[in-house]
Amino acid sequence: MASPSPLPDDLDLSPEALIAARPQLKRHAMDGLLLDGVPLNAIADELGTPVWVYSANTMRTRLARLTAALAGLNCHIHYAVKANDHLATLRLMHQGGAGADVVSGGELQRARAAGIPASHIVFSGVGKTADEIRLALACGIFQLNVESAEELATISAIASGMGRTANIVLRINPDVDAGTHAKITTGRADNKFGVPYAEAASLYAHAATLPGISPQGLALHIGSQILSMAPYRAAFARAGELIRALRAAGHSVTRMDCGGGIGIGYADPVEASPEAFAGAIRHAFGHMDLQLMTEPGRWLVGPAGLLLASVVLTKADGRFTVLDAAMNDLVRPAMYDAFHAIVPVGPNNQTALHPTDLVGPVCETGDTFAKSRPMPRLADGARVAILDAGAYGAVMSSTYNARALAPIAWVDGGRFTTIRARKPIESLWADEIMPDLPA
Ligand SMILES: *Cc1c(COP(=O)(O)O)cnc(C)c1O
Repeated sequence: MASPSPLPDDLDLSPEALIAARPQLKRHAMDGLLLDGVPLNAIADELGTPVWVYSANTMRTRLARLTAALAGLNCHIHYAVKANDHLATLRLMHQGGAGADVVSGGELQRARAAGIPASHIVFSGVGKTADEIRLALACGIFQLNVESAEELATISAIASGMGRTANIVLRINPDVDAGTHAKITTGRADNKFGVPYAEAASLYAHAATLPGISPQGLALHIGSQILSMAPYRAAFARAGELIRALRAAGHSVTRMDCGGGIGIGYADPVEASPEAFAGAIRHAFGHMDLQLMTEPGRWLVGPAGLLLASVVLTKADGRFTVLDAAMNDLVRPAMYDAFHAIVPVGPNNQTALHPTDLVGPVCETGDTFAKSRPMPRLADGARVAILDAGAYGAVMSSTYNARALAPIAWVDGGRFTTIRARKPIESLWADEIMPDLPA
């Protein structure tokens, strides 16, 4: 599928419907929008806008629900660090019993800095460098998810040189269409990820002969924001077949990493159910005596974050509402045509709604958060919350247009704390070195 699915026709995009669908949000008659009981206006007053706000309770509740869904399956959760890599998020996941799935040496070090031991970390990615592989082996990583024959050879050489054995799983490309946006589908034969299905059995056999390599099983990850269980079932069935064939040929297969990608309800309250996801895992692998793993990112943290912004001005008689947040903060709408619910933060008992395009100030037409969204008339300085921005939000920010990274607030136990301060603008060029320029 080349583009995201269209919004359902009967979708109610009015702010009050969007708020009602999200249990962490309430509108207070005096204080305006509350996140877990904390007024968002109080956070914006103290930290300014744009500012990210994370709900710890939402992350905890979602991790607990997924853990409960997987109970009895011998299935470990490795949180995909790239979705939201703040140390507080990583520590919360660790406290909730999850390990980490990392895709770079930087993420490996970040996860360990947050207190996640290397023995609870798996390392995925198509282009691990020799330095990253060395780092992973030196700190005793639980598993390397190998994506090619070439990478397998490199890991073998490095591990045997270090006198170590690398526990690996082979990431297979099951060639299924996850039915998600083209930029976030990863399990098709024409995507760069994994080992072609037809070659996986012989590569697994080859891995067993290599020095420094201990093949443990298989991995797959077919994409992100997957709302239907059908592609999971198809991919898991192919992996199950391969495991049976490998075992029949005398190979030991003890682990299956089922990947992540579970989708959330950006546009409406219907999201992929973790119970259904667990059911698909149970159906395919439940009786195969495997140590199972899953690597969700978005599903755990997406609904837990929002981006607070202020209206700079409205123009063309309200047709455009220009915010002080931009695509450099939240790039998902520009990059993936992603939908984000947007709601006013004020007490707001206005009932008349008018369609408006909510845009950022950056000099790109793609800097558009939403088109023709029904909103009450917003005065200059009024605040809005861009919802479901806890995953692939702050982690993908840039400083394009010399805009500093936005600060981050953490809401927990009815209070908020600052977990990333706003930096002085000079910090943007503090590490630049002026060369000698002939006058
Ligand atoms: C990105 C990624 C994930 C997490 O994907 P989500 O859609 O956030 O759940 C899991 N595994 C791998 C290998 C990834 O690259």
